[in-house]
Amino acid sequence: VSRGVAGAAPERSRLEPGIARLKEALPPRSWLDEPAAMEPYVVDWRGLYRGRSPLVLRPDTVEQVSAALAICNEHRIAVVPQGGNTGLTGGSVPAGDGAAVVLSLDRLDRIRALDAAGFTITVDAGCILAEIQSAADATDRFFPLSLGAEGSCRIGGNLSTNAGGIQVLRYGMARDLTLGLEVVLPDGRVLEGLSGLRKDNTGYDLKQLFIGAEGTLGVITGATLKLFPKPMDRVTAFYAVASPAAALALFGELRERTADGLIAFELLHRPILDLVFRNIPRTGDPLERPYEWYVLFEAAGPPIAQGLASGIEAATEAWMEAGLVLDGTVAATEAQRLAFWRIRESVADAQKVEGIGIRHDVSVPVNAVPEFLARALPAATAAFEGLRPIAFGHAGDGNIHFNLLQPPGMSDAVFLEATPRLNRLVHDIVASLGGSISAEHGIGRLRRTELPAYKSEAAMALMHSLKATLDPNGIMNPGVLL
Ligand SMILES: Cc1cc2nc3c(=O)[nH]c(=O)nc-3n(C[C@H](O)[C@H](O)[C@H](O)COP(=O)(O)OP(=O)(O)OC[C@H]3O[C@@H](n4cnc5c(N)ncnc54)[C@H](O)[C@@H]3O)c2cc1C
Repeated sequence: VSRGVAGAAPERSRLEPGIARLKEALPPRSWLDEPAAMEPYVVDWRGLYRGRSPLVLRPDTVEQVSAALAICNEHRIAVVPQGGNTGLTGGSVPAGDGAAVVLSLDRLDRIRALDAAGFTITVDAGCILAEIQSAADATDRFFPLSLGAEGSCRIGGNLSTNAGGIQVLRYGMARDLTLGLEVVLPDGRVLEGLSGLRKDNTGYDLKQLFIGAEGTLGVITGATLKLFPKPMDRVTAFYAVASPAAALALFGELRERTADGLIAFELLHRPILDLVFRNIPRTGDPLERPYEWYVLFEAAGPPIAQGLASGIEAATEAWMEAGLVLDGTVAATEAQRLAFWRIRESVADAQKVEGIGIRHDVSVPVNAVPEFLARALPAATAAFEGLRPIAFGHAGDGNIHFNLLQPPGMSDAVFLEATPRLNRLVHDIVASLGGSISAEHGIGRLRRTELPAYKSEAAMALMHSLKATLDPNGIMNPGVLL
């Protein structure tokens, strides 16, 4: 099913001179123009958006990025920056009109420097997230950004979507982990800001503009990121809880009792577990019988007097007596810990197997998560027959992934036609609770037309004027975000 934006094909003659100059300016190893070779760059991770492009650029130096953007700007050729192409909102692939070149950062992928004493790492934008984590680990440091796609997403994409993931609770979003950025502006100028300074109050913090901008203002080519000491004394547990309200109460208890050592706190609805166990090998129920709601949480030291694990164990007895926790297990080995996380991290793949899902990546104030679920689950179930709502996510951040799975037997076309109605239903509940229609995945192509309904006129106008100032020719990722 393709949602590639249709549109009149651009006259070849308009694009040809600029494309020819790009091929001259960049060495042949830095571009692709064969349709088969370009295929992985024009289809998104879910296979929902399929675009077309005359050229995929794969620069391996900042100078090549700069030269390419200057040419594109001069010839008014649209540019779609791409990292690992794991984005979930269609922002990393071109539209269907074939008028944009893809600029992939996949060959600009070196670790530039690691300062263990200063707790910073400086990397090219094309570095794979897991490789940054490993580089930090090798020097006894910790880079906390962590998400299911970490083996293939790239840090430039993480920064451009302001990715969240499972450890936001303790370490913040990608934005919070960034000290400095290097960005190539749409006209080819390089904004050099690779500083590891913790303090720098010399005017507007320009790097913030590019974080979360989804490639609409420039191309991130490098970043200096924060590192941390490695977490010690890690406790990972999989608990069945009485309800989302009980999960919220447990969340508060855990933050208090671990001296804010809670790193991750994920809420899972039973249908999610069934979906994973059905479709993903080497997964199984950590508990003996099924329950309706679960939390998967992880806490880490510093080692406290009585020991983190025994502290949590002792408190669990009281939580069970109070009826918050119904059952549970604490990982006794690293293999068990990884097995718990495998369930959580397989959710996206498991959904992919079972047809189309209309996805909602929403956030509400943390204390409104139970109310959101109490309203959204029955509303979605009643919306039409056979619809399968599934809810899970980073509940400690108020971020719920609320996805509606295609009823068995319903055609793709009929299901997709219902998308605007179902989006409205979920997003209106979110808005009434003071929430956001995109907690961490961004707007992309998927939510662009919905955004103005949920953002103030003043905010939309300011975003448009920033865009016009930084990218006056509108070459950067048109059709995405704004
Ligand atoms: C299994 C799975 C699990 C996921 N879990 C999470 C999760 O827990 N939390 C979360 O936040 N996301 C999650 N995601 C979504 C996705 O992985 C993130 O959005 C990720 O940050 C995208 O990185 P990427 O390198 O793949 O970017 P891409 O998909 O290539 O691009 C994303 C956007 O950034 C722009 N962009 C990419 N690189 C640059 C650059 N160098 N300069 C300027 N713009 C650029 C693109 O134009 C596009 O608009 C998940 C995805 C999958 C498939």
